Amino acid sequence: MDGERDIAQLNAATGCGPLLSSPPETKQPLRQRVFEYVRAHGNAARSDISRDLGVSPGSATTLTAELMQAGLLREVAEVQREQSRGRPRVALEIVPEAGYIIGIKLGDAQHTAALADFTGTMVADVTIRHARNSRSMADVLDEIETLIEALLDKAGMQLSAVHGIGVGMAGIIGHETGIVHWSPLLDARDQPFGDAFEARLGRPVFLENDANMLTMAELWFGAGRGLRDFAVVTIENGVGMGLVLDNQLYRGSFGMGLELGHTKVQMDGALCRCGQRGCLEAYLSDYALVREGATALNLAPEAKAGFQVVLSDLLKEAQNGNIAARKVFQRAGRFLALGLSNVIHLFDPALIILSGDRMTHDFMFEETVVEDVQALCLSRGQMPCQIKVHSGGDLDWARGATARALSEVTHDLFNGDTAG
Ligand SMILES: [Zn+2]
Repeated sequence: MDGERDIAQLNAATGCGPLLSSPPETKQPLRQRVFEYVRAHGNAARSDISRDLGVSPGSATTLTAELMQAGLLREVAEVQREQSRGRPRVALEIVPEAGYIIGIKLGDAQHTAALADFTGTMVADVTIRHARNSRSMADVLDEIETLIEALLDKAGMQLSAVHGIGVGMAGIIGHETGIVHWSPLLDARDQPFGDAFEARLGRPVFLENDANMLTMAELWFGAGRGLRDFAVVTIENGVGMGLVLDNQLYRGSFGMGLELGHTKVQMDGALCRCGQRGCLEAYLSDYALVREGATALNLAPEAKAGFQVVLSDLLKEAQNGNIAARKVFQRAGRFLALGLSNVIHLFDPALIILSGDRMTHDFMFEETVVEDVQALCLSRGQMPCQIKVHSGGDLDWARGATARALSEVTHDLFNGDTAG
């Protein structure tokens, strides 16, 4: 994998983090708001801070002086603004070395880690493949340790410079408790993953459901930066969803929310891997396609070893115009439209981002899917919600994990807790 080029491409944007300010009830300290404003814009002059945050020029000077004193901000010679006239202004930017963050995406077949500095810019990444089956928590922690060692080795850095580590994985994850209630990666339920991780590595760790990590990536680095409400729907081995409402990641009360894949679309319908019937996932995910494809095309019978083979044969057949293969995907597409129209009617997002490896195949997302969604919406052809495809890789997910950790470490920095 050509990690360096991927990093350069992903780092191309200026600044990172949500561009809209948080709702007033979050009551962030002013210093934090100034710091996050500068990070979101890449750099900013004191007059911009004063104007956009509604503080007096004197306060802007005092606040930025404090942040400079703390080693978090520094002056840059000039700022390029489109309409700047006259002499260049002095701007402020985040000191990149003020802290480092690691973001990890744990996956079925491989784990990916990214190292980012305090501006959110990625400086190194590593991917390690592993055997594809669920394992004990100790096994997975061993793998993470190896992954982090390889990452730090590549960057020439020590773990002590890392202020926090974000970890995203599939499953039901207690983002506050650090308990993994269930994950396809682990062979047991209710594992105290966060505590075990911190005990082993001695750095703060922030766990999150992987669809939420990807949603963080869109909120911090992607199409969601300037939006108040948007949804991310991921279609891979399962169907996941993340949601930003009022500029904040929505998590629900008990970790049961946003399980779009397990919303029912058919009473007593197809068997889902969750054990129930009629779930959206049972019509849409990889295993559903393999099940359908194996029958429709008489491909190799579904077997554990043959899963990927059947899936790639099915994709090849569809690409080559095989009608039966295309029908399998078209049917999945209609169920996708059904699921998306339900998301629109429940949450009314400005944008739905479709994400997943399979989105790289155009025939999976033909205009018929959008037309089907339009037809299923009450607005009938006037649907204002946009639907975009973002076929990113594991590095996007890992980067979302850096955003989660960066967000937490920043919060702790300005709200009393020490974050190393
Ligand atoms: Zn299910």
